Amino acid sequence: IPALTIENLSKEYTGGFRALKGISLEVQQGDFFALLGPNGAGKSTTIGIICSLVSKTSGRVAVYGTDIDVDFAGAKKNIGIVPQEFNFNMFEKALDIVVNQAGYYGIPPLLAHKRAEKYLRKLGLWDKRNVSGRMLSGGMKRRLMIARALVHEPRLLILDEPTAGVDIEMRRSMWDFLKELNEDGTTIILTTHYLEEAEALCRNIAIITNGEIVEHSSVRDLLRRL
Ligand code: ADP
Ligand code: ADP
Repeated sequence: IPALTIENLSKEYTGGFRALKGISLEVQQGDFFALLGPNGAGKSTTIGIICSLVSKTSGRVAVYGTDIDVDFAGAKKNIGIVPQEFNFNMFEKALDIVVNQAGYYGIPPLLAHKRAEKYLRKLGLWDKRNVSGRMLSGGMKRRLMIARALVHEPRLLILDEPTAGVDIEMRRSMWDFLKELNEDGTTIILTTHYLEEAEALCRNIAIITNGEIVEHSSVRDLLRRL
């Protein structure tokens, strides 16, 4: 079964704007997948629907075969989301932000702490564990959200513009981290408006513009045709 199935997904925002016009896509387990498109294309809307922060108008979304309308809690166990906006409590310490997220998933405290340490170390934030969120740089905040999204060890990690506003050096180290995570078996989907980023990381790609998928192929095939 695919990691993610989207069938005929439409979104009409209040006011009538059609952000998604019946998109369909499938992402296989183990893939590193890019949803590429310009600003306003509908990428964040798609991510928002997958994690139930945005309601959909019609269509179907399933995560490892579990329909999010039927069993969202079940689907959620398999997903880690790294949203574009910093949405953690800025006054909480980095370690607490990650440990508390584990609590939402019912992970017992000892294991939560172990996992938080593991991912904060991997993301180069262990030294900052007692620093409150607001004191971290933009790149550190982004990495903190990645650690938080991984604490329940989801099979599918979805990142919305993970390197937006991140400097070149930090971008490379995030790319290395994500590559390694994917090689270890985590399916990854990211949205980006940089073709370069999709090219550096991803195997398969869908291009979205004006709420429609205009390409859905391997990155290699796409580059050959460009
Ligand atoms: P992307 O992530 O690709 O930049 P978005 O999914 O954020 O695109 O937005 C797609 C379109 O939907 C944009 O034109 C945006 O202005 C519009 N949009 C996003 N959120 C809302 C909202 N809450 N109400 C109305 N329109 C919205
Ligand atoms: P719950 O419903 O379990 O209480 P929420 O949906 O309130 O959890 O999420 C708490 C915070 O964590 C919110 O800011 C939300 O955006 C974020 N969040 C929710 N699910 C995930 C996830 N799978 N990965 C990363 N962050 C998430």
